[in-house]
Amino acid sequence: MSDIHASALRISRRLAQLSPSATVGLGGKIAALRARGVDVISFGQGEPDFATPAVLKAAGIAAIEKNLTKYTPVGGPADLRAAIARQVSAATGVEYGAAQISVTTGAKEALFLAFMATCDDGDEVIIPAPYWVSYVDQVRMAGATPVIVTAGPEVGFKVTAARLAGALSPRTRAVVLNSPSNPTGAVYSAAEWRALAGVLHDSAALIVTDEIYDAIVYSEYARWLRVAPEFAGRTLVVNGASKAYAMTGWRMGYVAGPLPVIEAIKAIQSHSTTHTASITQAAVLPAYDGSADLSGEVAMMVAAFRERRDVIVELLREVPGVEVQVPDGAFYVFPKVRGLLGRPLGTSGTVCATDDDLAAFLLDAAHIGVVPGSAFGMPGFLRLSYATSLDQIREGMRRFAAAVGS
Ligand code: PMP
Ligand code: GLU
Repeated sequence: MSDIHASALRISRRLAQLSPSATVGLGGKIAALRARGVDVISFGQGEPDFATPAVLKAAGIAAIEKNLTKYTPVGGPADLRAAIARQVSAATGVEYGAAQISVTTGAKEALFLAFMATCDDGDEVIIPAPYWVSYVDQVRMAGATPVIVTAGPEVGFKVTAARLAGALSPRTRAVVLNSPSNPTGAVYSAAEWRALAGVLHDSAALIVTDEIYDAIVYSEYARWLRVAPEFAGRTLVVNGASKAYAMTGWRMGYVAGPLPVIEAIKAIQSHSTTHTASITQAAVLPAYDGSADLSGEVAMMVAAFRERRDVIVELLREVPGVEVQVPDGAFYVFPKVRGLLGRPLGTSGTVCATDDDLAAFLLDAAHIGVVPGSAFGMPGFLRLSYATSLDQIREGMRRFAAAVGS
């Protein structure tokens, strides 16, 4: 290839540090192994294994039949935005109008747009670790610098006020909060939010609260804005239908926040995706406007996740070298596996130096898919999604124990 052609393939400087999503990547690896006939049990990509509620599917089908297949307004149709505004108002206790909502292509796009709309080169965005993989790369794509604050098992995987205070600087543009957390399932209490609010009062930071798992909690749920409503003027609430209504493939999320930021977000959408599919927007409307009561379906999912959580935690605790905390929400468990590193494992005597090696070994030797903690900024751990059947959980944990046991 000539130099001229080679330079045509140069990737932008903005993407210099970008790596593809580890959670999405594992899904691809597992699919490839399965296509070769390998029986892989996936604890990998996190998505509910339930079907989308029938009433929402019916609304999607009706939308196609009614030819609701044209462009909608950027950020979603007015009725959907109004319905979401009412729901966010009821949940937070803060009044939101329809203009303060933009519907997005999944919560992932909502977060991406939030950083793109608000960050400049040199800005810092504080991200507590372990963090969901995409925050760091999204912040970098927006030109800002991720500032990672570690919150390990010693603090229940929840950032403390003292650590947050230590990370704040005059360059802090935003702080990302995520409860229930992916990858740990940690849920912040009202007292913990109040402590964080205490140190944030004196900063000018924007708060980005990712509440995508708010429907999946096993104990009390304290919502950031309920506890700290004085931050409403500088908080972006991110949520969506993916987890609560088992709609990951439909790609629906939203962001709620102060008008100027929502306007900026919509301007980006107007030049990029325009909006998520019209059919998806019609399908989720009954979930937000109150015309469908989905509380029974959600309760059924949460009860199933809770039972699976209890089983997987118990089985993980039986594996020597593994330590695990009980998660209070989402469908992830984040065991510490340092005890399995640096020593011969199983009958093969394989030695894994890192959690990446261990995840690769478990996929090869035991045919179970897990994500290494390093992908979430916390080496020495693994993330397992238990959004899979009890049978698969029991068989997967049997394989895990057999692969690492003597
Ligand atoms: N935030 C967190 C913490 C997540 O785990 C996910 C999962 N994909 C998302 C955002 C994005 O959700 P969506 O599929 O709606 O884009
Ligand atoms: N949020 C899920 C996960 O963490 C889905 C994959 C993704 O979008 O990252 O596995």
